[in-house]
Amino acid sequence: MLDVEKIRTDFPILQTEMYPGIPLVFLDSAASSQKPTAVLDAMDYYYRALHANVHRGIYRLSEDATNAYESARERIAHFINAPTSTQVIYVRNATEGFNLVAYSWGNTNVQAGDEILLTEMEHHANLVPWQMLAERTGAIIRYLPFDKQGMLDLSLLPQFLTEKTKIFSFTAVSNVFGTINPVKQLVDAAHAVGALAMVDAAQAVPHMAVDVQAWDCDFLAFSGHKMCGPTGIGILYGKQELLEAMPPFLGGGDMIRRVTFDGSTWNELPWKFEAGTPSIAEGIGLGAAVDYLTDIGMDAIHAHEQFITHYALEALSEVPDLKVWGPAVASQKGGVAAFTMAKVHPHDIAELLDKDGIAIRAGHHCAMPLHQKLGLSASARASFYLHTTTAEIDKLVASLHRVRHVFRL
Ligand code: PMP
Repeated sequence: MLDVEKIRTDFPILQTEMYPGIPLVFLDSAASSQKPTAVLDAMDYYYRALHANVHRGIYRLSEDATNAYESARERIAHFINAPTSTQVIYVRNATEGFNLVAYSWGNTNVQAGDEILLTEMEHHANLVPWQMLAERTGAIIRYLPFDKQGMLDLSLLPQFLTEKTKIFSFTAVSNVFGTINPVKQLVDAAHAVGALAMVDAAQAVPHMAVDVQAWDCDFLAFSGHKMCGPTGIGILYGKQELLEAMPPFLGGGDMIRRVTFDGSTWNELPWKFEAGTPSIAEGIGLGAAVDYLTDIGMDAIHAHEQFITHYALEALSEVPDLKVWGPAVASQKGGVAAFTMAKVHPHDIAELLDKDGIAIRAGHHCAMPLHQKLGLSASARASFYLHTTTAEIDKLVASLHRVRHVFRL
């Protein structure tokens, strides 16, 4: 069991009053998580005592900055059980990870008529880069459907994964339904037809133990800001032989071995994919986030979120006119509850909840096709993390009752 009250003291922002006497109830970690003091301190220390450009200077300060930045990469690699840290590429966010693969791997390996398999529950980050690749190459995109429970319809896999499929890219956990997908099964199914498998782990890595070797995925991307780390940093993991064979995505300093007036040769992994001065403080901050989460334990964090999700599903089921989308059982769901209320627009729900200091997200959550399939333009979404308490869920439910009252439901 997590000591949630103690954990809450690690997050300065959770002491904030949104309005006089009304504390912040932050239920929007799926959009971006809050930051513990350990992460803030690591970044502050870096800027105060350690800052110099990395990989360049032959002086002590630059070496110290390089060591801090590269040691963070080692710890992040360990956190997802990557075989080596050379397979862990710093990018800006999960979105950039998908763009890198769709561009660098996609341009060289995908041709007209080839198929790219996605699912209907993907975030735009795992949709648009592939649509752009399809536009460039003439490849065809197919979408594995989800069923009424918001679960992928695995019985359709043989129809959708064929010898034409070049890559199957799917989310490990939906940021709308919260559905926890059977990643290993999906990766194996892709490999069985000779396709690669890429995992969107943006909603998974912050909330559960992730082991890229156990999943055997070819690529995996996630963002630092959703896992207690800073914005501006994310990770692309890839299998060594694939990354070795791929051309660079962005060109410039740091990613080269030699440049002449006639051309250039590339640096080794991972730096081949890291052009220009990187997000040094952010890499160090993400390293601190990984240490923080590791100390608490990913299994304990996952168990806490399952408990809170179960509690929330029960409590929300008591609110009349409210429908929670996605799996109805907490064990199939990450810490996300997207819901709609008959006759009340999600934006109105979010605005009224804000008056009680409660931060939830309302909109399409960067998953417009998912909402289109449900016949919705938007939903309201409460999402949970290691600091979420049952008292906060009670406040959410009480506030939703007030929404009904305001709308005379
Ligand atoms: N995939 C999923 C499942 C997400 O939840 C998010 C962020 N909400 C992303 C991808 C994209 O993350 P970012 O905007 O940090 O690139």
